[in-house]
Amino acid sequence: MINGFTADAKVELPQHVAALIARRQKVMGSAYRLFYDSPVDLVKGKGVWLYDTFGRAYLDMYNNVSCVGHSHPAVVEAIVRQAGELNTHTRYLNESVIGYAEQLVSTFPEALSNVVFTCTGSEANDLALRIAKKCTGGSGIIVTENAYHGITEAVARISPSLGASMPLGSNVRTVAVGRTQAERQQFANRVQIAADDLKRHGVQPAALIIDTIFASDGVYADPVGFLAPAMEVIRREGGIFIADEVQAGFGRTGEAMWGFSRHQLVPDLVTLGKPMGNGYPIAGVVSSSALMDEFGRDVRYFNTYGGTPVACAAAAAVLKVIETEGLIENAKRVGSVLDWGLRQLARQFDLIGEIRGVGLFIGVDVVDAGTRSPAPALASRIVNLLRQNGILISASGPAGHVLKIRPPLVLKEDEAAMFVSALGDILHALTQNSAQTTGDRGLV
Ligand code: PMP
Repeated sequence: MINGFTADAKVELPQHVAALIARRQKVMGSAYRLFYDSPVDLVKGKGVWLYDTFGRAYLDMYNNVSCVGHSHPAVVEAIVRQAGELNTHTRYLNESVIGYAEQLVSTFPEALSNVVFTCTGSEANDLALRIAKKCTGGSGIIVTENAYHGITEAVARISPSLGASMPLGSNVRTVAVGRTQAERQQFANRVQIAADDLKRHGVQPAALIIDTIFASDGVYADPVGFLAPAMEVIRREGGIFIADEVQAGFGRTGEAMWGFSRHQLVPDLVTLGKPMGNGYPIAGVVSSSALMDEFGRDVRYFNTYGGTPVACAAAAAVLKVIETEGLIENAKRVGSVLDWGLRQLARQFDLIGEIRGVGLFIGVDVVDAGTRSPAPALASRIVNLLRQNGILISASGPAGHVLKIRPPLVLKEDEAAMFVSALGDILHALTQNSAQTTGDRGLV
């Protein structure tokens, strides 16, 4: 345990933190949310560690954006160097931009040979929808039941995880990922039903868009290849398959650079974001040249800040660090240490349910020990207790009961072990509490 274990989740906000919260609310308004009952005021990051104003260290088991580690010197150096030389946009020729585009597409299957740059994953998905609609002539979009694809008007309407107050578009159909592997094996059938329903309403399917690790649906990696038949269905129906790699991309699965590889398919479009610039805003859409030619014939694309020389310098440094530091292999090795440790905990504690994921993206179901049904309040308590003990994660999934564990790819084995041990202490404390109050083996 990092600073001495506490099982106390009681929130006592330091004065300056309370003051910051009040100022933030006043100036930034009500649409934002903070993490944790006791929010953290962070001032510094290095590797997988974040530091607050008191100098307290937090083990970051959550932030996939800083994929090569917070403030990685190679990325910082690349940004500073390029910013000191030139920062314009993609309407001029520039080696930093073109060179990075070449490097990036070389990590994809040969068919995917074009990239256009955006600033955010939302913009990338928004553009992917435009390409899909223009190139297929359709307008129907199929998404998973609790998907999240971003914040623009168009992508918010294909993001059911935003909740009932953000209505889906009338040409949008949702499909369940499937709770069991057998159900996921039948995923393509549900996509077929959704495509049939669109057609019955006079809507031609344009795209099936999938976050290839299903981050907001609750983290699903298995069975290997279960998306491939679904891609065939959407293509047969005249639509295209968009792999949203904002979460799974850049080596997170510990198997390959891209999450779709696990599904043994080559998408029509791939959207990228979050880890691409290790925190410097850069995102994009990767496509075949045929699809991009079809889109670009009558449509002009320009994005002022998308793919600036500085953004591309940062992103090129990220690619280089992933390779030179062997971060895909690291994600596999340390991910399996984490997975093994979590499975030991699941054996010990009845309130841990299924553990899913691959590499350094792991979802852990928190369940009622008696009924084994989702326990979101308990998941939230665990997240907050971890925070009190110097470890940052979050929870996701349709019920909010899935612990979302997704650290920078530079996590080491001893840090993974530290996380498992802290989680074990918390589960133990929660179990003790419950036994004391209920007098039996019931666990919260
Ligand atoms: N797609 C997925 C799968 C995401 O998780 C996110 C962000 N959480 C986005 C798209 C949107 O990316 P951004 O926040 O950069 O707009």
